Amino acid sequence: MAPKPKFKVTNPAYDVNDSVLVHQCGAMLEIDDPDRTVRGLIALLDGSRTVEEIEQAFRERHPGSDFDVRAAVTQFDEAGVIEDADAPTTLTPYELERFKRNLGFFETYASLTANKYAMQERIKDCKVTLLGVGGVGSYVSLSLLGAGVRDLKVVDFDKVELSNLNRQILYSEADIGQPKIEAAVNRLQGYYADAKITGVEQRLTSVADIENVITGRDFVFCAVDRPKMHVIQWVNEACVRAGVPFIGGGVELQRSVIYLVIPGVTGCTQCWRLARADDEDTHILREQMEARHLENTGIGPDMAAFGPLVSVLNSLMVTDFVRFMTNIAPPIAAGRLIETRFDDMSTRQAEQWDRLPGCSVCGDIPPPSLAS
Ligand SMILES: [Zn+2]
Repeated sequence: MAPKPKFKVTNPAYDVNDSVLVHQCGAMLEIDDPDRTVRGLIALLDGSRTVEEIEQAFRERHPGSDFDVRAAVTQFDEAGVIEDADAPTTLTPYELERFKRNLGFFETYASLTANKYAMQERIKDCKVTLLGVGGVGSYVSLSLLGAGVRDLKVVDFDKVELSNLNRQILYSEADIGQPKIEAAVNRLQGYYADAKITGVEQRLTSVADIENVITGRDFVFCAVDRPKMHVIQWVNEACVRAGVPFIGGGVELQRSVIYLVIPGVTGCTQCWRLARADDEDTHILREQMEARHLENTGIGPDMAAFGPLVSVLNSLMVTDFVRFMTNIAPPIAAGRLIETRFDDMSTRQAEQWDRLPGCSVCGDIPPPSLAS
């Protein structure tokens, strides 16, 4: 099917003196148009015609003009201001309405060949497991449904406490003392009735526990941090072996941090540990610290968890998930630790690591096939 170019409603064009001004994201594209041919072309870019039909109609309206219509359409496409009005979709009328504003966002990345509906469909078709519905998981679960995820499995074992309510926005005062998983599933199902929300009430204590809840899933969010250090290694091992990408992170006092592991592509968290153990003394100290964590003798309760930093963390995580799933832009946290610090609210790379060929977890994992 030949595309039918349409000037994007998200990039309004203004007729100003001898120019056309196109409003883009924080910028203005100015096109000289003293003879009004560009305006004549834009008027034809209403999504009802193919490029051939646009050229024909333009010649009828501007006889004698040597304006290169096809080249101009190509330039508009390269500038990101037109899309294909005939782009197919499997989204239902309900989904088109529910995710209208997402589609408006994806439209800014659409072109004559990039379909905004397909971007939303990729999110819709992604089966996600979210480990932990505490502070981070509260925001992430709602954001994922808002982004359009339709199949969400949530895992937790805790009960709702009064001190959760500074940030755990899934819960209300009436839920205090109740299992989080029940309250979370009810809240999430109420937010998006058509979504398949599965709750698993379980404490994660091993790689096998995690394998049980991520098998057959497309993406995992790790929003659990207990037992410290070990749970990340378990999630890493289970996800890498299953070939499932996962994003993890947390709020650490005054900063939010995220990282993304793509099995077979980025280094895993074991590669990260090895990269950090750059000398023997550091390695021994880390081993000893981790042993204390396992014994629970060197660790106090988490006292700091500032809600706004938790929501920043959620934004970074879900944004990177959307970038990864839709390919609209490369994920920022692949093989990197990205931090947002409260002191200046800057977001930057704090650490980076490569895939280590001899890694005991991901060393023998092949890259994802192009077909998958
Ligand atoms: Zn590795």
